[in-house]
Amino acid sequence: EGITVTVCGGGNAAHIAAGMFASRGATVNLFFSFKDEAERFKAACDKAGGVTVTRKDKTYFGQPKVISHDPAECIPMTDIVLLIVPAFAHEPILQQIKPHLKDGAAVGAIPGPGAFDLVALNALGDVFTQKNITLFAGTSLPWACRFDEYGAKATLLGVKTKVDITTRPNNDAKRNAWLADALTRLHDDTDFHCRGHFLMTTLWPTNAVIHPGVSYGIWHDWDGNPLDEAPLFYQNCNKFTGGVLKGMSDEIAATVEVLKSNGADLSHWQPIDVYMLDVYGDVISDHSSVDRIFATNDAFRGLKAPMITRDDGKLDPNFRTRYLTEDLPHGLAVLRGIAEICGVETPTMDKVLLWAQPLIEKEYLVDGKIKGKDVAQSGCPQRFGITTPQQLIKGDIVSLKN
Ligand code: NAD
Repeated sequence: EGITVTVCGGGNAAHIAAGMFASRGATVNLFFSFKDEAERFKAACDKAGGVTVTRKDKTYFGQPKVISHDPAECIPMTDIVLLIVPAFAHEPILQQIKPHLKDGAAVGAIPGPGAFDLVALNALGDVFTQKNITLFAGTSLPWACRFDEYGAKATLLGVKTKVDITTRPNNDAKRNAWLADALTRLHDDTDFHCRGHFLMTTLWPTNAVIHPGVSYGIWHDWDGNPLDEAPLFYQNCNKFTGGVLKGMSDEIAATVEVLKSNGADLSHWQPIDVYMLDVYGDVISDHSSVDRIFATNDAFRGLKAPMITRDDGKLDPNFRTRYLTEDLPHGLAVLRGIAEICGVETPTMDKVLLWAQPLIEKEYLVDGKIKGKDVAQSGCPQRFGITTPQQLIKGDIVSLKN
């Protein structure tokens, strides 16, 4: 059908995209921010003749057309630019590709948490309207995956059957339908639906809630002594941790109500337990409460908390992982900032955020407000001068705090 997709990022998920999308007839380019990464990927991929993705009962094989760190070589002919990278990479990538975007291109992130639209509007500036760009973001990556041989082989461990996306501008039904259809055709076994206000993706109760919340549950009363073994991250989920997750989900739900009463279409938003059962229902054995839903999810079996090994072989928790470095500035701090604007009390989010932010030496929540120095490198609406629910819904940048 002649569609050209450029995937930005060269990690686990980019391998799957390269192999799967090309095998489904699309022209696929890979854009890397880093030259050495591009060269390494290209050399391995050329040698193997393409990327092979292995799944339980299927394989996908495809060859990317352009693999480059030079946006001029891959962006100008691209219909859909898809960022599949940790959220802190969104802004630098958008800055790099911005001068090269084709008129009418769709530019999106999957997953696209943490007010991707505001971050993108800020990064793209006038290009957004001048080039008629459609921004989009997906609630979650449709895959659990890992690469086995860099640039050549990857394994697809699990596939979600549906993923919701939101778009900006959102008033062109034909354009939305085209995009959802194009993404559905690129992916094998995942249906994409475009629905609701962009805030729905940002408010989705996924990693932003789960990673900081479970980390807090495990470590909030840690005595500082090293451990012999890494604790299981999800399977140990107890009443306390379940309460933290539910508490934050309830605070988002209250925020959603305020935004709905101000006119935002957030009717498809789901609380954390409903969402988990919706995507993982079959592999969760106990549906009775949030803690049991997490503790008995087979997809999470065996996953351990990130640790650092000391010289004597004992283990300390590792807090400098994406569970906090990505999921605070492009996750929990954004949710807290939106709740603040909506006048919603957030005792649970505050507890988690105040515990977590010093562990990565960042300040978002200060004196009860999202006004810390590191808000300037986040997706918090406060960074963009937004102070009212109406401004949140309109979604324009009011003024920039740097
Ligand atoms: P990854 O760590 O394998 O890939 C990261 C890639 O992002 C790097 O290879 C690099 O190309 C790029 N990158 C990193 N920092 C950058 C920066 N500062 N500037 C520009 N580029 C940068 O990640 P992944 O496993 O492919 O996951 C991608 C996204 O999907 C993440 O947000 C992750 O949380 C999410 N996710 C992954 C899985 C999975 O199974 N792999 C599952 C669910 C969600």
